[in-house]
Amino acid sequence: MPPSMRSGLWTGMFRPCGVTLLRATELLHEAGFECAELCERYAAETLADGSWKRVEPALPLTQCHAPRLPEDAAGDADKAVAWFRPWCAMLFRWGVRTCVFHPLGNPGVAGAIAANVRVFGAIAAVAADSGIRIALENLVAFRASALIPVFDAAPALGINVDTAHAIASGDKPEEVIAAFAGRVFGVHLSDSDGEPRDLHLIPGRGVADWPAIVAALRRAGYDGDFHLEIPHERVPGDVDATFANACKAARAARAILSERSSAP
Ligand SMILES: [Zn+2]
Repeated sequence: MPPSMRSGLWTGMFRPCGVTLLRATELLHEAGFECAELCERYAAETLADGSWKRVEPALPLTQCHAPRLPEDAAGDADKAVAWFRPWCAMLFRWGVRTCVFHPLGNPGVAGAIAANVRVFGAIAAVAADSGIRIALENLVAFRASALIPVFDAAPALGINVDTAHAIASGDKPEEVIAAFAGRVFGVHLSDSDGEPRDLHLIPGRGVADWPAIVAALRRAGYDGDFHLEIPHERVPGDVDATFANACKAARAARAILSERSSAP
């Protein structure tokens, strides 16, 4: 049986409030979360100024959202690996298990699948030396089914299931999770209103079927954490209002996870 999921929220919740990465992790901990996903902004900043060697986060950072690859590395595996090596050292220090990337390009454009296989296959090989897995995220335009040929050609890669993106592209998140059983390395959990748009709300505020999603994660053998990503619940510049929403999100996650554990 997979270990029980810990509730997490990404540090990007507090980035528009202008607090430090350390403070963001303290606020997430105070809100009731047990782990966090490192967002791309804080990650890039702390890597650039070297502070990653000193910061001790207030809770485990078990997943990281990597930024877009630099333009010259987007189709070049050697350049992509050279760019990723310093990231690897930082993520390893903090115990990150899964690093999430958005896939490159548009699945309908010739060469896009091959570019994703080449670049992320090479990054995954380097990351594996540090015990880090690489997950590609389903986007609204790059829906989950379009990732299948990438994963067929690059066995080390897995999926980061973004539930709101799945809903916006017409998929049911629980069916996406089931279709990728054994390859679900990460999750971005949020609710959405069912319209074809990019909207990320606290679970329970939209149309997602949370008991079905949790059951699907368990059946799929998912061994990561229950990471929320809810950019539309942020209040830029207002730490108190954002913290209140983080507390609501923590309560929602706890309710969903306890419902799961008491189910037969
Ligand atoms: Zn996402």
